[in-house]
Amino acid sequence: MEKNNLSNLSHDMTIPDVLSSICDSTSSLVEGCRLPVKMSGSEDWPLAEIISIREEDGKIFYYVHYVDFNKRLDEWVREEDLDTRKVQFPRKDGLTTGQNTNTGISTPKRLISTSRPTSPVHHNLQDVQVNGNTVLQAALQKKINRKRKAPSISSPAIIPATPSTPITPVPSNVTIDEDSQEVPNEKTPRQSGSMVTHHDDVVTRMKNVPLIELGKHRIKPWYFSPYPQELCALDCIYICEFCLKFRKSRKCLERHLSKCNLRNPPGNEIYRKGTISFFEIDGRKNKCYAQNLCLLAKLFLDHKTLYYDTDPFLFYVMTEFDNRGFHIVGYFSKEKESSEDYNVACILTLPPYQRMGYGKMLIEFSYELSKFEGKLGSPEKPLSDLGLLSYRSYWAQTILEILMNQETDGDTDRPQITINEICEMTSIKRDDVISTLRNLNLLNYYKHGQYIVCINKETIDQHKKSMEKRKLRIDPKFLHWTPKDWSKKPRY
Ligand SMILES: [Zn+2]
Repeated sequence: MEKNNLSNLSHDMTIPDVLSSICDSTSSLVEGCRLPVKMSGSEDWPLAEIISIREEDGKIFYYVHYVDFNKRLDEWVREEDLDTRKVQFPRKDGLTTGQNTNTGISTPKRLISTSRPTSPVHHNLQDVQVNGNTVLQAALQKKINRKRKAPSISSPAIIPATPSTPITPVPSNVTIDEDSQEVPNEKTPRQSGSMVTHHDDVVTRMKNVPLIELGKHRIKPWYFSPYPQELCALDCIYICEFCLKFRKSRKCLERHLSKCNLRNPPGNEIYRKGTISFFEIDGRKNKCYAQNLCLLAKLFLDHKTLYYDTDPFLFYVMTEFDNRGFHIVGYFSKEKESSEDYNVACILTLPPYQRMGYGKMLIEFSYELSKFEGKLGSPEKPLSDLGLLSYRSYWAQTILEILMNQETDGDTDRPQITINEICEMTSIKRDDVISTLRNLNLLNYYKHGQYIVCINKETIDQHKKSMEKRKLRIDPKFLHWTPKDWSKKPRY
């Protein structure tokens, strides 16, 4: 991290200017400022960036992002949580200017008056013009525009858009009337990718849903998701755990539940062992469910943006069964046809089920499907921080399991296996196998392009321990599924 000192600053400005504005209060703080902020639930004061400022009943609140932390920790803080002695103001070029704390020198006001171009200043959330509806409308408009420009180019739908994007008529699936969550009848060309990195837009950088109720769980969302703004203004959004439609109150949800016949996700149950089931949902046939699933997932996935054209995707929803029904635990989506051998687009274990082995089970299932298809596969990039951890651990366990079960080959004292054989046995793509072997530090060059894999006792012990803990496993005997060749279908 580079911190600019006074001598750097003096390149762009005169010394008297610099000295003229000492930051001694919060009044000069603007969006983009960086300063130490007390993180709630801890005694730490990590460096944070102000994303938004709002005033409520005479009090000012700051929405901050802790610079070296995941966005899920972003939060509203009060004035007293800010350490205003060490402020870095945003520069004209969008970067943040460091400031020497001891001299108390800050960037002059004429420089700080320009906030980032992408961050419109909202002092009150009431002024914010962008909401779930407009974000969706803007995205659809973009899609239409793109279609007009270059119908043959497959490019992902980009959401969210900036407030200036033209507005199209409100799609009916984002209003909150009963039974209105139907899907706009769109016919769009094939798009690539499931979700894409979104713009650094101030609204979509902020969590907008305070709480959701899903079945017996009340869950605090981690990230922005374009639910209708009318619902986001409420304390909680009530979601039917079976069809994933959302309601503004428990009463409305109860009314819905009395009419909703589903006790499991729509689509085919293609796996059941014990209480665990998997349902395969076609994003074209069950568009409303698929879109509502994406909306729900976006609350917990940051790096990817919601994708409204669900037609090119299949969704695999994992459920846990009890006498009330099949309760959603997590899911992954998968392109019907992937030009890059992706076998997973988005993957999520819902927070109440995290750190219990379900995530790895989802991953294992995705590779079982690839094995049935006779293909190698890899998850779409980028992976979230938690996703990457799960995948690394899954790859390591799967590959170590194979290496340790190798039988000695007759005329040599060492068992032999090729990378390609590992790929074929696991459906894990070659690059992922190699990176895993490297991460585990197992590869030692031998001769003539051959490598010797040496596994030390520590790695073996560690592996055995972690496999004992891994109780939840997919049993391919219980998978009843025939892969479809989607390329033979005229449209999905
Ligand atoms: Zn329902």
